Amino acid sequence: MATIEIDDLRKEFEMDDGGTLTAVDDVDLTVEDGEFLVLVGPSGCGKTTTLRCVAGLEEVTSGAIRFDGEDVTDLRARDRDVAMVFQNYALYPHMNVRKNLGFGLKLSSERTSAEIRDRVEEVAEMLGISDLLAKRPRDLSGGQQQRVALGRAIIREPEVFLMDEPLSNLDAKLRSEMRTELQELQHDLGVTTMYVTHDQTEAMAMGDRIAIMNEGELQQVGTAEEVYTAPENEFVAKFIGSPSINLFSADVADGVLRGPGEFAYALDDASWVEGRDRVRVGVRPEDIRLVESGGNAAETAVVEPMGNENFLYADLAGHELTARIASQLRPAPGETVRFDFDETALYLFDPETGDALKTKTAATDVSVSEHVSAEGESA
Ligand code: ADP
Ligand code: MG
Repeated sequence: MATIEIDDLRKEFEMDDGGTLTAVDDVDLTVEDGEFLVLVGPSGCGKTTTLRCVAGLEEVTSGAIRFDGEDVTDLRARDRDVAMVFQNYALYPHMNVRKNLGFGLKLSSERTSAEIRDRVEEVAEMLGISDLLAKRPRDLSGGQQQRVALGRAIIREPEVFLMDEPLSNLDAKLRSEMRTELQELQHDLGVTTMYVTHDQTEAMAMGDRIAIMNEGELQQVGTAEEVYTAPENEFVAKFIGSPSINLFSADVADGVLRGPGEFAYALDDASWVEGRDRVRVGVRPEDIRLVESGGNAAETAVVEPMGNENFLYADLAGHELTARIASQLRPAPGETVRFDFDETALYLFDPETGDALKTKTAATDVSVSEHVSAEGESA
């Protein structure tokens, strides 16, 4: 097992028009020994390129890759002791599952056939595919094929797993099952893992830590809770969370945030916006509550029932405002609602740089017993 250090990694591609495209822009990132790190970001932000550099499939423009302190930047992929799983896991169609699993071992190790057979059966057992060993890939479901692809990766007991959107070809239900399984498997094996996805929900659910990229640049690295409650910039705030955070611009005067339309919010603590006349304001949908009076007004557009709660979409002077409200609350389309939120839940960003000026300031580490007693009091 290994620590992966990505040190100032830069990857440029020469374009046909003679220009260069910077796919990875000086990324610095350490994946701890045994950690499951998820690299997430929108399509084209440089995730796959980063992973391919770590794998040795792509030559770096500058920077270094180290495994456990050893510089592997110039090592070929096959000398790096990494195993990869891709979205398009190409299994050998003419080989049965047993041969697909054993093939890599046969090539790369000095094991006897009996040892290979034992190892194949051990891995098949681990992945719950023991009864499929005699089948060909075409006779397997998508989920079963993906398991075989995983099996091929883990059979060699590599130091590092690299996975690039390995679940994205599966349907939603299977995908969420496989997420859990993959996490458990990684946890049991303890192999340092970099896992790429464009799906923030998947990232939040799976990662010990999440690294968020945009346009080749690393935006933030942290636990799910850290990137959600304390995003370093507006991009991260917007990318993480579903439904996504409400964001709009406001003018600042005498500690009051104004706009869009009639929106006004008086800050208790005006020091957040000291010396500024304009900010970007963010509020998460679950932090918005409907009130009888006071607060601000918005016009209901749609209410989507989720069963346990409703999503309210309302118009705030041309901006869509999303709120998660109690399932009993069902304002009609066109109806004016009044809403409010606590200052502790408010996010503020610099309108030029996008840097966070304020994120959630509420205590986040409420213990279970405190929570229970608080509920008891209100009942
Ligand atoms: P992601 O995996 O996050 O979707 P990629 O790493 O695949 O993003 O791509 C990052 C950027 O680099 C994109 O603009 C993509 O078009 C470009 N790119 C990737 N591979 C190549 C290549 N071999 N040649 C030229 N441009 C590439
Ligand atoms: Mg990709």
